[in-house]
Amino acid sequence: MKCEIIKDLLPSYVDELTSNESNIEIEKHLESCSSCKKEFDKMKEDISIEQIELNKKDIKPLKKLNKKVLKYVIITILSGITLVGSYFYFFGFGWKVNSNDLEVTYYLKDDAIYFDFELTNGRVLNAWTDVEEPYTMSFTECFGSILDDRGVHPNEFSYGIHYKNEKGEIIFKDGDTLNLKFKDKVEKVNLNKIAEELKIN
Ligand SMILES: [Zn+2]
Repeated sequence: MKCEIIKDLLPSYVDELTSNESNIEIEKHLESCSSCKKEFDKMKEDISIEQIELNKKDIKPLKKLNKKVLKYVIITILSGITLVGSYFYFFGFGWKVNSNDLEVTYYLKDDAIYFDFELTNGRVLNAWTDVEEPYTMSFTECFGSILDDRGVHPNEFSYGIHYKNEKGEIIFKDGDTLNLKFKDKVEKVNLNKIAEELKIN
């Protein structure tokens, strides 16, 4: 084939639009003709540069988007941590109380034994009763509370346990304990012993 024809075909060849037969002819010619080969190499180069630039265009907005998304993700995480942190710090569930920091007193009132819990380290006390385990409480403390002003969140908590059923019988079974869950231990207060002490038997 003549160089002119080959050069005419090259753009189509580079775009892989030429027939197999033409391809064979073109390749044969390129092996032997340096002028056409040069032309072909240049075309290939141009195409790969074009592609790289196209790819760059594709990548750039993606990178920008990722940075933006990342920023939002970080902001969201940080505000989440701050929110949860303040909640724990001011209102919330707080941290488990050490047994040394809680004073427990008990007394009789009406038909119940009352336990008074006082947190002595100056923090706000939360007392949680366990629904699944009878007579079980856990204690957490937080640093302060906006609710303090309304008296909802003091450092004291009272818990009453009824000791008689409708027939006036003591309901405690042998081994019934009030379980106080602290950070450092679970204190088991024997309810029968306390009943004895308070002379309700
Ligand atoms: Zn040629």
